[in-house]
This record gives sequence, C-alpha cells and structure tokens, in this order.
Amino acid sequence: MSQLFGSIEGGGTKFVCCVASGPGDIRDELRYPTTTPDETIGRAIDFFEEQEQKHGKLAALGIGSFGPVDLEKGSPKHGYVTSTPKPGWENTDFLGRMKKRFTVPIGWDTDVNAAALGEHVWGAAKGLNTFIYLTVGTGVGGGGMIRGRLMHGLVHPEMGHIALPHDWRADPYPGRCPFHGDCLEGMAAGPAIAERWGKPGKELSPDHDAWVLEAEYMALGLRSFVCTLSPRRIILGGGVMKTPGLVARIRSRLLALLNGYVQHPAIVDDIDNYVVPPALGDQAGMLGGIALAKRTLATVNGQN
Ligand code: ZN
Repeated sequence: MSQLFGSIEGGGTKFVCCVASGPGDIRDELRYPTTTPDETIGRAIDFFEEQEQKHGKLAALGIGSFGPVDLEKGSPKHGYVTSTPKPGWENTDFLGRMKKRFTVPIGWDTDVNAAALGEHVWGAAKGLNTFIYLTVGTGVGGGGMIRGRLMHGLVHPEMGHIALPHDWRADPYPGRCPFHGDCLEGMAAGPAIAERWGKPGKELSPDHDAWVLEAEYMALGLRSFVCTLSPRRIILGGGVMKTPGLVARIRSRLLALLNGYVQHPAIVDDIDNYVVPPALGDQAGMLGGIALAKRTLATVNGQN
C-alpha cells in the first residue's frame, strides 16, 4: 500500500486540506473559508487527526501558505506568516502550531511554490528544472524552480509587485496595491479588475476591453520574467486566468512585446506550449502540498 501524505493549501480566502498519495489517489479533502488563525489552523489539525484515525499515521505533511512567509531555516520566525495585511494573521506561527500536534516531517513553502512543485512532479512542468508559476486571483503570486530548486532567496520572490509602465491616458485607474499602487498585482489581480470596471471579472464578457488591458499588463510582467529568469515554461493559474481566450491574448502580446529579441524556438515557434495553464487545474495547490510533503520526507531520509 502506498504511503499517505497530508497537504494544506493555505490561501488568504480559503483553505484546502487533503490526504493523498498522488493525483490518482486523493482519499479525502476539505475546503473552508480562511477566518482567524486559531479557527483556520484548528480545523486543519482536526481534519488530519480524523484522517489519521481512518488511515493510520500520515508519512509527512506539506503546507503551501499565503504570505509573506518566513522560509529561512534557523530564523526565529521560520514557519511564520509575517507582514500580511490579512487581519489577525500578522506574525502567526503557522508551522509551529502544526508541529505541536504532528511529529512527522512537515514541508513549508509559499502557496505558489507548492503549486509549482505539484506541476513539476505531475503536471505542466514535468521534466523542466527552470520554470515559473504565476497565479492571478485575489493577488498575483509567482514562484517556480531554478535548476530544480524551488525559488527561495533572501525571502521569496514577489513577482506580483514588479513595476509596470502605466499609460494613464489609456488606463486612468490608479491601482490598488496598498504598498505600490500600480504594480502588477495592483493593476491585474481580480480586485483591481472589479474596481476598475465596477463589476467582477466573472461578469464581464470575454470580449470586454477589460481583457485587452489585462493581457497587456500580464504580458508586460511576463516579458520581464522571460528576460530576468529565462524560464523554460510559464504556467498561469488562478481564477482570473480561466477567462476564455485570455491566455491566448497574453501569448500574442508577449510575442509582440519581446519583438523577436529572445530567439528560442520554444518561444518563437511554440508559444502555445510556452505559456500554459496548470495541467493539474484547480488541484495544483492541493497536490503541490502533497508533492512538498513527499519531497520533505525524502530530504529527511537523505534521498534528495
Ligand atoms: Zn505591490
């Protein structure tokens, strides 16, 4: 029988917990809204306790959390959600609370790095050691791998907060990032679309001007990432990217903005396979946590 792992996809809006050995073997899952840290983390603990009663001890856990988070081993705040504007969550010792209850190895990373790892193991980044994963929903998050390692540095990448050229005549909307105003997240995340057009993206038809603008901002962001990180593929997840035709618009604007400069057949001849949706779809984050748990166990056992 295969080993079972537990996963938490901890988002700022909702939490998804699951127990699985991989994509074809999801034993149970639980989704609920993110409220206070006590209640939200408490529900995850209760879920895994029930699961252990049903299935026996889990081999490892993996947590992909909204952030910013502290990923630095040895830091006094390792495992914390740190400076988030999410009410009640600032300086929450998320990993520590889990470790108090569970003694198995626990992997800890950003929600988007976990999703990226899931795509690397089972999805659109299989066999690729350098790629990025961006999610566009209530915010814009970015992560991925460089030469087989998840992107960690001083902290973790904050790809959603890069500066973009802003044509104020074409788009007088000032942006809604509380830190930067018109950064990529401030201009292109779901709440910015809703505020700019007076209704949520879901209620705008796929041929609305909103999507021309959205594709432009995303393509400007992607041009910067292609030029700085040289990813072998770009995966675009999150609710906003499900808009019919949007990814195709982004591909074509990215090609136009690169203007023939990055001459690689993966881009020039095969853009449809260069900018792609997650192969695991809505399960990327949840299965990413499972992949993170597996990888953490393998590291502890000295196999990685
Ligand atoms: Zn920002």
